[in-house]
Amino acid sequence: MTEILKTDALIFGGGVAGLWLLNRLRNAGYQAWLFEQDRLGTGQSIASQGMIHGGIKYALGGKLTSATTAIADMPAHWKKCLAGEGDVDLRGCNLLSENYYMWPRNSIRSRLNAFLGSKALEAKVSAVDKSQYPDFFRDKIPGPLYKLQDIVLDVPSLLTTLSDAQPSSIFKIDWQQASLKPDANGGIACLELNSGQHIEAQQYIFCCGAGAEPLMKQFGLGITQMQRRPLRMVMVKHTFTDPLYVHCVSDRLSMTPEVTITSHRNSAGEPVWYLGGELAEEGANQTDEELIDTARSKLSAMFPWCDFQHAQWDTLAIDRAEQQQADGKRPDDISIASQNNLMVCWPTKLTLAPNLANQILRQMQDKQILGGQYAATLPPASLERPLIAPTPWEQL
Ligand SMILES: Cc1cc2nc3c(=O)[nH]c(=O)nc-3n(C[C@H](O)[C@H](O)[C@H](O)COP(=O)(O)OP(=O)(O)OC[C@H]3O[C@@H](n4cnc5c(N)ncnc54)[C@H](O)[C@@H]3O)c2cc1C
Repeated sequence: MTEILKTDALIFGGGVAGLWLLNRLRNAGYQAWLFEQDRLGTGQSIASQGMIHGGIKYALGGKLTSATTAIADMPAHWKKCLAGEGDVDLRGCNLLSENYYMWPRNSIRSRLNAFLGSKALEAKVSAVDKSQYPDFFRDKIPGPLYKLQDIVLDVPSLLTTLSDAQPSSIFKIDWQQASLKPDANGGIACLELNSGQHIEAQQYIFCCGAGAEPLMKQFGLGITQMQRRPLRMVMVKHTFTDPLYVHCVSDRLSMTPEVTITSHRNSAGEPVWYLGGELAEEGANQTDEELIDTARSKLSAMFPWCDFQHAQWDTLAIDRAEQQQADGKRPDDISIASQNNLMVCWPTKLTLAPNLANQILRQMQDKQILGGQYAATLPPASLERPLIAPTPWEQL
């Protein structure tokens, strides 16, 4: 016999966007459940560098764009959450670095880019006195070096904190054993589980990253299109113990840093640098070997005091999934496309996940979906809980 369960919201996708939203909805009194088809964070979230940007990266030419303004207050927002004083409690999340640095290398143009960027965001960036250089750079570079307000988070601990806060609302879904039934108005009637349960929600929210595309096709949802921007990140396992969090600013006239570096450790405690920026954008068109050669020669030129002879290298091909833009470039802000009781969302950046959730909550309230009505409904008991995805550098 069919059992019908009613709830306020069903979220599909347990990356940072879905997990943050689940926390916000439940904290606001909504009965919300999240369904993940793989491991939590699979795709972009676990592959991200964990930087909570304050926007300087987008102001490198000295111009304040809408991307810069959309993001400028986000480090402060996340810091409040890390202190347990924000809209989501992140006290279990590890902070990898309280600062991110920007290093214009030795050319006049890259120094200029950094300087102009710093003027555009005066309160958010400061020149570092040589005596205060991080250990990795101390007595090694002539400067200048800038300190940004950006912070760097340990993404696995972020995903764990967000999911542990909701112990009985996150489920693994096997699409061979479940399906979404369309209604007559271009929305969704229910989630049907082969176990005999039908779950009806007031709002269905796809936070599926690249996985939104097949779902949209499946339902003939013409409300929006998705774009992928391919990257090929580089991982370097080495023996340098001083962590490094820096945008190396290009001497080309580019809005993207030449290399962005974050430092991580694998489960054996070995240090790994994770390299993005222009290197990863251009690397999308290179073979593994070509990209590793490029990365090795760039790092050797940047850091002549480091010996990479025994370093281990690998790459990770991964697409950014975002709402399609007319020019195919990076969107400036979050994206939400709505059709009846269905929303398809992309945060565009990990940094912007809080803004995405705020906006979804506002839209639900505007539709008079206020929560509380289904507080007593219990979720299906038979579904298992998904694990957290492994980091890309675990395999290195
Ligand atoms: C290499 C890289 C580095 C980045 N670095 C940064 C950074 O430092 N700072 C920053 O702010 N942003 C960064 N970003 C962007 C950021 O990672 C993404 O914007 C963000 O993680 C997207 O989160 P999401 O939850 O929307 O998607 P995802 O993280 O891709 O998660 C989607 C989830 O949905 C699940 N899913 C897919 N289809 C289905 C389905 N049909 N049913 C159920 N579940 C489904 C997937 O398994 C996955 O768990 C980076 C992105 C990349 C690729």
